Amino acid sequence: MNLSITKLGGDVLPFIDGEWCASKSDGHTEVLNPSTGKRILDLPKGSVLDADAAVSAARSSFEDGRWSESSPSSRKKVLYRFAGLIEASSNELDSLDAEEMGKPVAEVFSNAAAAAELVRFYAEAVDKVSGAVFTSDKGSFVARRVIPRGVVAAIVPWNFPSFCAVLKVAPALAAGNSVVLKPSELSSRSALRLGQLALEAGLPRGVLNVVPGLGETVGQALGLHLDVDMVTFTGSTSVGKRMLQYAGQSNMKVVMTECGGKSPQIVFADGVDLNAAADSIAQHLLTNQGQICSVGSRLLVQRSIERAMIDKISARLGNAVMGDALDPKTTFGPLASAEQYARVMRYIKAAEDEGVQLVTGGRRALPETGGYFVEPTIFQNVSPQARIAQDEIFGPVLSVIPFDSEGDAIRIANDTIYGLAAYVWTANLSTGMRMAKGVRSTVFVNAVAPKNEGAGYATTYEPTAQSGIGAEGGLAGMESYLRRQLVWFSHG
Ligand code: NAD
Repeated sequence: MNLSITKLGGDVLPFIDGEWCASKSDGHTEVLNPSTGKRILDLPKGSVLDADAAVSAARSSFEDGRWSESSPSSRKKVLYRFAGLIEASSNELDSLDAEEMGKPVAEVFSNAAAAAELVRFYAEAVDKVSGAVFTSDKGSFVARRVIPRGVVAAIVPWNFPSFCAVLKVAPALAAGNSVVLKPSELSSRSALRLGQLALEAGLPRGVLNVVPGLGETVGQALGLHLDVDMVTFTGSTSVGKRMLQYAGQSNMKVVMTECGGKSPQIVFADGVDLNAAADSIAQHLLTNQGQICSVGSRLLVQRSIERAMIDKISARLGNAVMGDALDPKTTFGPLASAEQYARVMRYIKAAEDEGVQLVTGGRRALPETGGYFVEPTIFQNVSPQARIAQDEIFGPVLSVIPFDSEGDAIRIANDTIYGLAAYVWTANLSTGMRMAKGVRSTVFVNAVAPKNEGAGYATTYEPTAQSGIGAEGGLAGMESYLRRQLVWFSHG
């Protein structure tokens, strides 16, 4: 464990302009270990002044060109070194996150090693996104440059702390921006450590600043800041909407939001391998205790195989090894916080009170540990309009909704406020293709993200509806951090 992160009185501190700074914060809040309910550290609530100091450092570093105007090959080298240091520190980073927000250290999906690979992808991408020269008349030279946007505020959630942070920071840096990173109040230390590692890798001071604190203090101050050129946000839909309001109330900064989802797993009774589908569906629901934005939390299943699928998935959920997130044997940890636990239990209780049929789970688990463990839970015969079938619960709760025809499946799949991801299980190529065209979100056919690498780090996602705005990931995701400047020359 890196002691420098907590060296002053056990608190975490802002990392600004390459140094640890005292927070100008009105008080602290306790961060508890969700596996035990015991206090780990005090987090400064943070303030407008903390945000101002970080933005000012980022602005100076941007304007003097120490990074924004450095050569592509030198930027690439620094990012490669950064990736190497993240990889070398990946156990430490994963342990910090496990202790703070309960992602099991054994869980490889979107862990720190994956974050290192992502940084490598963007190191390679530094000189791969270019502008264009337009065909023009004899007296003109017309070109489109791509230039960094300036100061980018990255506001990120707790569910995959180091990965979600790097998914913003790496393309923003590769594009030449200076960044202020605001981690979730539930997972500050890995972000602070990333700031330190970037400096060690040779990133100039002030180019990556990390400010811990609450959303309503530091997050809001960054969202409203007149000297922030772009906010890139990952988190809930309700806070994502605030980001748009902040921009409207301040300086019309560019806003990118990657928000919540209520993604369907859609299984057809057409001869598809139900065991393979059940393996993936159960594994997805167990990964990070169901706290994945794109988790398949609705099972849309063709009526004739409803019972069989429920039995298969229930059996697989029973194989989870529940325990302390720091224990390498654990495959299913606690929910991230007491609030998160209370929220998930509220949804379960409301569904039971409304008479929705509980198949398995639904109770607190391992109460003797003091941790926030919830059993993997399945409800069946859920109405597509029920709250548990419409709201993002963000926990290990699956709502089973039977359907009859392909048309029904498409209609139900699209009938929430979200548009993040959908998973289709079919043995029929044409069904798969029609579903991919009919369902409005990203569509996976006979595939699910945590299972294998697929296209590595080259894929780009763009949410729709109230799941967010803007492209993330891959080269198109890097373009989000670049502004297109038109340069028009008339000459004799
Ligand atoms: P959240 O919206 O509560 O918080 C996200 C970030 O916003 C945190 O840093 C928080 O401090 C900050 N914040 C909170 N209130 C704020 C305010 N009033 N002003 C400014 N900033 C504020 O989300 P969370 O609970 O940390 O994360 C879970 C959510 O993230 C889920 O909805 C999940 O679907 C979503 N998520 C989406 C993706 C994606 O790629 N679409 C990926 C991961 C998580």
